[in-house]
Amino acid sequence: MGFSIAAGGLLCGRCTAQHPGETVPLDGETLALLRNLAEKEPRVLKRMKVSPRAARALESLLEKYLEYYLERKFHTKHIIRSLKKVNTLNE
Ligand SMILES: [Zn+2]
Repeated sequence: MGFSIAAGGLLCGRCTAQHPGETVPLDGETLALLRNLAEKEPRVLKRMKVSPRAARALESLLEKYLEYYLERKFHTKHIIRSLKKVNTLNE
């Protein structure tokens, strides 16, 4: 099973294998962590035990996800370049 950032969700094993470059493989623990964070109450999350490996894997996936969608929506790099050319008022 894998997570496709471009498709915006989980893919089955077969689809993941067909699009290796576009999907991030997710193991059971990382997938469970993602589901729990989305669904469970904060007091339940506090009692959860998570391996550092799964936490890192999910953090990296979510960072890539954010980057992908923010960049598509706002073309952030282009905006930052334009911002450098804008004249700012003296305060
Ligand atoms: Zn499939």
